[in-house]
Amino acid sequence: MTSKGPHAFGIAGLLCYTVAMPELPDLEVIKEFLQDHIVGQEIAEVEVVRPIVVRNLAGGDFTTRLTGQRVKQVSRRGKFLILALDPGDYLVINPMLAGRLHYAPRGERRLRKTFAVLHLADGMDLRYTDTRTMGKVYLTDDLAKVPGLAELGPEALDPALTLDVFRERLRRYRGEIKGILTTQSFAAGIGNAYADEICWRAGVYPFRKRPKLSDEEIERLYQAMREVLSEAVVTLREQVGADIHVEIRDFLKVHGRGGQPCPRCGTTISEIKARQRLTNFCRQCQPGSLITGGV
Ligand SMILES: [Zn+2]
Repeated sequence: MTSKGPHAFGIAGLLCYTVAMPELPDLEVIKEFLQDHIVGQEIAEVEVVRPIVVRNLAGGDFTTRLTGQRVKQVSRRGKFLILALDPGDYLVINPMLAGRLHYAPRGERRLRKTFAVLHLADGMDLRYTDTRTMGKVYLTDDLAKVPGLAELGPEALDPALTLDVFRERLRRYRGEIKGILTTQSFAAGIGNAYADEICWRAGVYPFRKRPKLSDEEIERLYQAMREVLSEAVVTLREQVGADIHVEIRDFLKVHGRGGQPCPRCGTTISEIKARQRLTNFCRQCQPGSLITGGV
């Protein structure tokens, strides 16, 4: 039985720090689902409920321009989903903190905060919901126009991002390792939750400054990054199904598990709010101190 995490219907404001941001594994599985279900479909009608979530970088009227285009391909780049359209535009979705896609028959009840709807020719809807109104849906004729897309570093799971390349890229940064892992220009796709998982798997304190990391710790971080993300894709692929609006996080080892025992050593998992976000880690497996005394 699939169990869904508690974050799926997060109430804006109240669950400020528990709303889970879609990251590489979540979006990779959503991409695969959409490839199977909407490629070839014509966008028969477009409804924009909250214009603030859409940005038209292509010119003309958003709705008019999008209507009648056909979905040619679905791809993912970092935390962006890209729908290539025929005759030639792109619809780019950047969910940020709380954006979700909901795939449902046209007559099915909408989720709260459904702000934009593509009615597909086969009677299905692709809906964009966003409890925080921070994400964006861009219509563009040129991907280079989409803010943040061109600046992305290599995909975190790209085979070309070898250990040597990872090490080399890390040298450009002097901050805390968790902050670097979530910097999209360093490597694309990792957010708050999976950065915690990677640091825990590597046994590295998330607030360690990069210059303090040993070669061996960097190698452990690299291996942990590849394992955590690729394992999550496999797990989510089995669990998500058509419920692409539901974020499943119950298989994570430390993130969102403050106060519970560490699965490796049994120590109570720490939870601290730092840098405007929640971080979970094990003080036993990931020793370190927040007071670093500078770089
Ligand atoms: Zn532990």
